[in-house]
Amino acid sequence: MSELLNYFQENRQNMVDQLIELIGYESFTADKAMVDKLGAYMQRQFEELQASSITRYALDEAGDMLLAKWHEDAPEKPILFLIHIDTVWPIGTLAERPVRIDEDGRLFGPGAVDMKGGITIVLWAIRGLLALQQMPKRPIWVLMTTDEEIGSKHSEALIKELGAQAGLVLVMEPGTREGAIKTWRKGVAMYTIDIEGRASHAGNAPEQGINSIIEFAQQALKIHELNDLRNGTSVSVTMVNGGSARNVIPAHTSGFIDVRTMLQTESERIQRELSSLEPMTPGAKIVVECEHQRPPMEHNDQMKRTVEQAKRIGEAVGVTVREDGSGGGSDGNFTAGMGIPTLDGLGPQGDGLHALHEHVVINSLPTRAALIAGILRDWVFED
Ligand SMILES: [Zn+2]
Repeated sequence: MSELLNYFQENRQNMVDQLIELIGYESFTADKAMVDKLGAYMQRQFEELQASSITRYALDEAGDMLLAKWHEDAPEKPILFLIHIDTVWPIGTLAERPVRIDEDGRLFGPGAVDMKGGITIVLWAIRGLLALQQMPKRPIWVLMTTDEEIGSKHSEALIKELGAQAGLVLVMEPGTREGAIKTWRKGVAMYTIDIEGRASHAGNAPEQGINSIIEFAQQALKIHELNDLRNGTSVSVTMVNGGSARNVIPAHTSGFIDVRTMLQTESERIQRELSSLEPMTPGAKIVVECEHQRPPMEHNDQMKRTVEQAKRIGEAVGVTVREDGSGGGSDGNFTAGMGIPTLDGLGPQGDGLHALHEHVVINSLPTRAALIAGILRDWVFED
């Protein structure tokens, strides 16, 4: 067993204790005061781990964000961690579902795997390197955000700004149920479609109306044809709302379109197609808007090289790295979409994100910490 892995195996119970402590700070995205309490705890952790600087980014509508740096003056490009401390669980969930550990060594609790387990691993990877006097003299940045669960609207710009300077981005979202990391994620775009027709009495003057539901139905069929599942592209009309009364030709119909893509070229194709939809009914108007977008994390050549290096480092510290992917996005999509080497799903093995059976497989805490510590110590940038 490598020295690193041995260290984390010996500290397995300490890692579990810290994970339970983190879960004890409930941190529902919408409750700024509670998220800030966890932020203060994180600040103390970064100080204890000898961060050379900690910068606070105050937010009004979400918890304050923190950026902790180690060896910021060293010449190399930084390795950037992305962690988010918010969860989807309203305050009080913990009282209803306290932390428990079952006989298979799974730890259940709100936010356990998404992503307090991942946060535990980052803190311990740094702690272990310091304890073993193997902390590399390279810049290491940890960006702690507070709004990932609502789409990172407050943190997106900062993630991109810091990501652009990084040589490697490590995203601490959960690993898969089987413990694989995530080496592709679909891009996500949420569109709204609004159709305007003209209202008219369905009995007295139906011919004077412009039926927005009929127009919507025709557009929905055209939109459906944009699907290309073999390429990993799905285009789904997921919600519709139209009409005002049973005897009125409907003037207004609106809907939602969920778009997922494996390839950036596909995201662009769908965007082009949706923004050039033309009304079929004379007089009808269509407005399509993209409300929210994360580019795909592509499984391209750069990703393959990045994963290969992670596997080699894993082997050297005694940890097997396996790969999988996800149809859902994360903050890693932003940095991968910018062409920055990004590894995601580095958090613990587990399951049940945003669900009642959310849990962490305890045995994966030390192995993941050894992998992360090995990456920090041994990673070689390409160029
Ligand atoms: Zn998450």
